Amino acid sequence: CGIIGVTGEGPVVPRLLDSLKRLEYRGYDSAGVAAVVDGRIERRRAKGKIRALEEVLADEPLKATVGIGHTRWATHGAPNVPNAHPHQAGRVTLVHNGIIENFAELKAELAAQGHVFESQTDTEVVAHLLDQTLSKGAAPLDAFKATLDRLTGAYALAVLIEGEDGLILGARRGSPLVVGWGEGEMYLGSDALAVGPFTQKISYLEEGDYVAVDRSGARMFDAGGASVDRPVVQVSASS
Ligand code: GLU
Repeated sequence: CGIIGVTGEGPVVPRLLDSLKRLEYRGYDSAGVAAVVDGRIERRRAKGKIRALEEVLADEPLKATVGIGHTRWATHGAPNVPNAHPHQAGRVTLVHNGIIENFAELKAELAAQGHVFESQTDTEVVAHLLDQTLSKGAAPLDAFKATLDRLTGAYALAVLIEGEDGLILGARRGSPLVVGWGEGEMYLGSDALAVGPFTQKISYLEEGDYVAVDRSGARMFDAGGASVDRPVVQVSASS
């Protein structure tokens, strides 16, 4: 339902929570965050309100400067902790808005190859597909494009890859995603409100675009893989 990604140098968890609270108006049934802690990607998830996620994080803090967060409105799989985002497979951790229409076929194919699934979501197949492509030696952006090319349906995605500290990949088709421009810090969000606490400088990704952000900037590509620049616009602080 709502997505935030932050890559910078300051503590990331308070930022993720700040953003997720802005996204509460959209409605959701669970929430979660993942962050890069000493090169490893760790998750915290909770059913119900952001408040419940804050309690989980108070018990088990994450000290990190790069992370992603999600509020979930379940479409496939009950609203519970195993189905809450971020989803994880091997080196890949990601959050997703939308519906992967061909998830059942992809899941059957991956299961036949030995992949073990821990949720009932349509989302989890994306993590497994990307991890599989990475483990064949593909570079992150090539692996990401190859994965996107296999998906049908609607998605906005934000992705962390273990071993690629500072990098967040994003993609949009059917669900919106924006890039937020900060000072030595960059953001991905499901809308201008998601990144509103941090910046009013935004690039709206176009249908089929994907993007790699790190704290120094963003590299954007269209659905065919060609490098593109989407304009940076100034949105009003209240939007
Ligand atoms: N289809 C995904 C799920 O059920 C994402 C739902 C959403 O957009 O929050 O987990």
